[in-house]
Parts: sequence; C-alpha cells; structure tokens
Amino acid sequence: MSDQLPPECARLRAEIDLAALRSNVRVLRERAVGGAQVMAVVKADAYGHGLVPCARAARDAGAAWLGTATPHEALALRAAGDGGRVLCWLWTPGGPWREAIEADIDVSASGRWALEEIVAAARACGRTARVHLKADTGLGRNGCQPADWPDLVAAARAAEAEGAITVTGLWSHFACADEPGHPSIAAQQESFRTALAVAERAGIRPEVRHFANSPATLTLPDAHYDLVRPGIAVYGLSPSPEVGTPQDFGLRPVMTLAARLAMVKRVPGGHGVSYGHSYVTPGATTLALVPAGYADGIPRHASGSGPVLVAGKWRTVAGRVAMDQFVVDLGGDLAETGDEAVLFGPGDAGEPTAEDWARATGTIGYEIVTRIGPRVPRVYAAGGA
Ligand SMILES: *Cc1c(COP(=O)(O)O)cnc(C)c1O
Repeated sequence: MSDQLPPECARLRAEIDLAALRSNVRVLRERAVGGAQVMAVVKADAYGHGLVPCARAARDAGAAWLGTATPHEALALRAAGDGGRVLCWLWTPGGPWREAIEADIDVSASGRWALEEIVAAARACGRTARVHLKADTGLGRNGCQPADWPDLVAAARAAEAEGAITVTGLWSHFACADEPGHPSIAAQQESFRTALAVAERAGIRPEVRHFANSPATLTLPDAHYDLVRPGIAVYGLSPSPEVGTPQDFGLRPVMTLAARLAMVKRVPGGHGVSYGHSYVTPGATTLALVPAGYADGIPRHASGSGPVLVAGKWRTVAGRVAMDQFVVDLGGDLAETGDEAVLFGPGDAGEPTAEDWARATGTIGYEIVTRIGPRVPRVYAAGGA
C-alpha cells in the first residue's frame, strides 16, 4: 500500500480500517441485549482514529447514537453533516449550551448549576433542551451524588413542566467494569437502580437509561438497559487483558501505525545510540532509523522497550525515543532505507499490537492509540461496503 501513498504519508501514517470499525459496531450491536441500542463513543478525535470518518462508519453500521466528551466535538459532528442523536457530557460553566441545544445535541447535567444554565439557554432560544441526568453511583468523577439526586431530579421535573427541558436520559458510568468481578460493580448497579427508582417516583420518564462502557457491554448484559456506550471496543481494542482479547469477542483493531525507515547503516560495536547513550551496540551491527517520535505520540517510556516489526522480526526501540525519531538494532540483519516498520496493528501479519505497546510502556491501549498526534496523517481504507 505504501507505494501509492501521497508524499506526506511516506514518513509515518496511521492506517484506519473502516471496514473493521463497521464490523466492530455490528458485533457490539449483536451483544447488546434486550434491544439496547449502541452509542459509539467518538470523543478525542475518535480515540485518535479521526472523528468524522469514524463517526460516518459507525452510523453506517447502525450506531443510533454518537457520544462525545466536549461540546466542541459534538458541534464538529453537526458541522460535518451528522444529523443523528448525539450526547455530549463534559460541560463547564458557560456551555456553549445554546449552540448545543440549537444543534439538537442531547446535553448532560450532573448538578444544579448545569441544569440552571441549560434552562436559561433553552428559554433564551425558545427551544426544549434534551437533558440526560447523570448519577454518580460510585465512580467519584462526574455525576450527581446520591444525597443531591432527589433535588436534581425535582428541579428537572419543574423545568420539564415549564417546557424548558425534557429528560431524555438517566445514566451513570462504571469505575471498574474492566476488572470483572470487582465488588464495586455490583455496588454501582445497586446504586443505579436506586437512582432510577427515585427519578421514576418523581415522575421522570426517560427515553433511555444507560450505564455500560465497553467492558460492561462485553461482560455485563444486565447493565445494558436501553443503550450501551462502547468506546475502545469500537476501535477493536479490549478494555483490559482481564476482559479478554479482541479476538475473544470478534473485534478487530482498526489502527495500524507504520513508518518507512529513514536510514539503515552498519556501525561498529560499542557505538552509543540516541540521546544519553542509554543503549550501546553490543557488537558490530545494523541500525535502522524509524522516523517517529514523541511529537507523534510515541511514548518516550518506550525507550528500550517498544516493539517494532522490521525486516520480518520484532525489534526493540534501542536507546531513547526522541521528538521525531528512534532507532532499532537489527542485530546484523539487512534492511533497506524505505522499508516498512510496523509499530502496531491488528497483529495478524506478525506485527505488535497497541496492547503490546501498552504493556511495554506501562499504560493501556486506549492511551497508545489516542495519543497518536496530529502530525501523523490518517489514511482511510474503506474496505467492502
Ligand atoms: C469514554 C467514555 C465511555 C467509553 O468508554 P470505553 O471504556 O472506551 O468503552 C463511555 N462513557 C463515558 C461517560 C465515557 O467518558
């Protein structure tokens, strides 16, 4: 593929397999029980895969909802022509609530301050805002504490009566769903049932109740309710090794990160490699220069540990990852300048996976793909329809 690519892709590129993404969405739709719909989470530039092409592919595969963190991301979907249901949940005072309401975006409130700003914005534009009330059932991050929930629910009912809002969703988020069997999972589910009952008694009739991220979509059918909110699984990665491998669920990694070698050369033994000389060649060998660095999102923690497929074998980052480049020691094997180096991909052509990079650098696959930076062109392969 690399020979037909435009010149800006010759150095380093992220190939995005949209056929794999569509297939992953279909797999998740099949797993969702009781007719629950799928919200494909496309925050953070679709976990680094590119917002608009991934959103379109997810819709094509039947994602009824898209989810974003920031209002900017949700508005970008509208600007790209997406007219379906979109929920956006990470708000700070000032909104932009009105722009979101006018763009038919479902918004989220975790407390009275947000509800008051939503009501004011809805009145100002003469529209009815669609609001999801978020309960903190134990994550301890965003969401309304149980002690404050009856008050938030009552205020939402009053705003509904006035016509300023409709409560379209009641929802929450798991802390440890990626550790199946963790005691917090059952405790959060119990807390969510209580929050739903409190809202119901107050007269709230939401269109959707939703709780499940990727690990809960894959392992906890009784948390599916009316809608599941997978993110990482849409991109074909498993939330954690404890949950399983992508293959266990029929998911396929969507991103392949590949570079072309910028230089191959023979060096004598005892030669220091890259800044700080933390690697010194153990004997005469060949070094290959991979034109990718921490400015592209390659973790500097991969120094001395990151795996790369070059000339048919896994090599390890030799010495430090620099801003734009790193070196691998080919151990005397031959390669040509311009040969392909695959940092990660689905793994079925012998290349490492994002999970391998996560293990090598002490992080999670989410961070590996999401941090691939804007300097790296995304090349979309649409695959079969
Ligand atoms: C990111 C996010 C998700 C998706 O989580 P995954 O673990 O990637 O499936 C779902 N819901 C909320 C609120 C999130 O912030």
